[in-house]
Amino acid sequence: MRVYISADMEGITGVTSWDETVCGKDGYEEAREQMNREVAAACRGALWAGADEVVVKDGHETALNLKPDQLPRGTRLIRGWGAAPCEMMLGIDRGPFDCAFFIGYHAEAGSAASPLSHTTEYGILQASRLNGKPMGELDLNVLAASLCKVPPALVTGDQGICRKAEEAYPGVRTVAVKEGIGGATFNLHPEEACELIERAAREAVEAGSFRCPEIPERFKMELTFKSHEKARNAALFPGARRTGDCVVEYETDKAEDLLLAYHFMV
Ligand SMILES: [Zn+2]
Repeated sequence: MRVYISADMEGITGVTSWDETVCGKDGYEEAREQMNREVAAACRGALWAGADEVVVKDGHETALNLKPDQLPRGTRLIRGWGAAPCEMMLGIDRGPFDCAFFIGYHAEAGSAASPLSHTTEYGILQASRLNGKPMGELDLNVLAASLCKVPPALVTGDQGICRKAEEAYPGVRTVAVKEGIGGATFNLHPEEACELIERAAREAVEAGSFRCPEIPERFKMELTFKSHEKARNAALFPGARRTGDCVVEYETDKAEDLLLAYHFMV
């Protein structure tokens, strides 16, 4: 049994402002410590339940946030960026993996569910939709995992992303460690968040009934950029179409092409 973990920071308990998510800025070290603790809790749960190896991808900002010595033995940490589509899932194709966890995840660009809602690059996208529904990092990353036949088993983060995960991926376990209200967050105690994550990780691996969501036959992605210059640039990607000053659409029937298009357009 091998488990893959993709880790982010905006959906970690307590983290509320952009400064806290940026290395060198106020509050970053505290946010980083809690990210470490929540990821370590997920690793412990998986290992306790019988996973032989847990591969963790640090998926936030510099991708150098997690400290290897704070993760349990039996984990392998992927640091830095690999210059590939779906970077937060780098290494997912080096399976086989039995399931994937998404720790510290957050609501997508344009969502009111978190003061830190965004899709991949902060400050670039106003909104992102796929086949008519809001599209965030979880959607893209679950798609990338599904292409490698790795089903989602656990999602932790803000309440918005957890609700979405439960709707989109029946059977997936979730732990909402915080709720966003306007610019504020209502947070679980750091230790309680870790306890819940460890238990959910253990239960997810013990249950073992993972299922990949069906991959759609056709994709229509609509990206609304914050700046018209960025939209103009994105529309240069082969097959992309500018449908408004700040809006670009892209259609394909291949998931790989969609991930590649997103990678270059954003
Ligand atoms: Zn992030």
